[in-house]
Amino acid sequence: MKKCEYIEGCPIAKYFGDMGWRIFVRRYCKGDYEQCQRRELRQNGEPVPDHLFPWGSSPVSEDAR
Ligand code: SF4
Repeated sequence: MKKCEYIEGCPIAKYFGDMGWRIFVRRYCKGDYEQCQRRELRQNGEPVPDHLFPWGSSPVSEDAR
């Protein structure tokens, strides 16, 4: 099965419950991972905020953290 090489320990997981994470993984990390903004930044050697979603937005604002 193809999957993102960064799936083990990806910090975005902490923003999801178990069920949500399973759905998310199926959609992105074991599916359309080549579209993931997190992965793209990482592959370019750029910093990746823990809270960045694959589609480029955040589940929490910086002010709320
Ligand atoms: S969120 Fe992105 S970087 Fe993290 S495991 Fe999934 S596809 Fe890879």
